[in-house]
Amino acid sequence: MRLSIPRGTVYHAVSDDLRGLLNVLYEKLDQEEIIAQWEDKFAHYIGRNHSVAFPYARTAIYCSLKTQNLPAGSEIVMPPITIKAILDAVLDLGLRPIFVDINIDTLCFDIEKLEQGIGVNTRAILITYLFGIVPNMDEILSLCKKNNLFVIEDFSHCLNGRYKQKKLGCFGDVGVYSASSIKTLDTYGGGLLVCDDDDLHLKLRKLQSGLEQPSRTHLVQKIITDLIRNVATSRLVFHFLVFPIIKIMSALKMGSVIKHTGARDTKMIKALPREWFKKYTSFQAKLGLTLLDSVENSDQARINNVALLKSKIRSLSFPRGVANTHNVYWQLVTFFDHSTKIQNAMHAMGVDTATTSLDKISTLSEYPFQGDTPNADYLYGSGLFIPSFPSLSMKDLQHISDVVNTTINNKIN
Ligand SMILES: *Cc1c(COP(=O)(O)O)cnc(C)c1O
Repeated sequence: MRLSIPRGTVYHAVSDDLRGLLNVLYEKLDQEEIIAQWEDKFAHYIGRNHSVAFPYARTAIYCSLKTQNLPAGSEIVMPPITIKAILDAVLDLGLRPIFVDINIDTLCFDIEKLEQGIGVNTRAILITYLFGIVPNMDEILSLCKKNNLFVIEDFSHCLNGRYKQKKLGCFGDVGVYSASSIKTLDTYGGGLLVCDDDDLHLKLRKLQSGLEQPSRTHLVQKIITDLIRNVATSRLVFHFLVFPIIKIMSALKMGSVIKHTGARDTKMIKALPREWFKKYTSFQAKLGLTLLDSVENSDQARINNVALLKSKIRSLSFPRGVANTHNVYWQLVTFFDHSTKIQNAMHAMGVDTATTSLDKISTLSEYPFQGDTPNADYLYGSGLFIPSFPSLSMKDLQHISDVVNTTINNKIN
């Protein structure tokens, strides 16, 4: 019998989550020396002078922008696809988002559209490396420099990605990594900011120290979320329980199944939740200290899986990236014009797949600013994930490529 293959994974063992759930009930959450040790280790790992830990990536981005005291109405270049919370944070600061479309080969800003998008009021840019592909940083950064922009890199999908030997997170004024569920380094949430400038670092420290005391309940919720995802994607539970439910939902045309982790709320929020401004905990820092050393191993396993899948699936095109880069392929994405049909066909052969569950923030109808981003629209609706996570066996990979190849052939015939 062949067990079905889930669309993705959690980068913890179930036993880690169970142990975490026990420990979080009594462990101290505010041991500053452990947090400092973790920040140091992370900064060093990325190759920067300083790291400041925030509860979320959105909070780290919010605080970075706050240090710049930008006048209301200043423009910030934003990716068309990311989590909506980042847009909420930007709007709360009175900034005007300019959505620049992506290039289909790099999943990052199209350089010509970026040049057109930057105007006299543009002060900042949020570069986001979607799904672990590294873009041409020289091109992007030269435009940033020419226009004197404050540069934030969101490398949540691309930890350990490199451009000309230098790790992502080292190119902007600040780099931000989200250590949240299903990312390759997951500390039950967290926004790890890195930077070099001493003055900027001090300003960020000040904002960090003004955050509220952490909430244990919230942390427990995060661990439970990971535990549920982890158990749900373990192979036996997935095969006998979760996948049958996914297929039923799919047959009933419940739209959320096409999205990686379900549909999200697209309503505009009135005020930023207090939860976003509670301190990162030493409980999470301790986990980071133990997990960091294994990230490269799991990266390498996934990168090898991607190479194998690409060599076996010849008739599809994948984002190519550019020369002199090290892509980490957090998710292997490929494009289909009829993604729902393809999803159903792959489901029928025991391989789960989905489109991204990130938000397309350039076209949220309830928000005051929109953008024309056809490539992002295409990625959002037609970019399906091909499972490539580290724990897949050789047999699994062979099966995945057979299923994808069969699906394509059936469609053509
Ligand atoms: C997961 C993710 C985040 C998460 O941010 P948090 O504020 O830490 O929840 C940020 N950016 C990208 C691109 C992500 O995929």
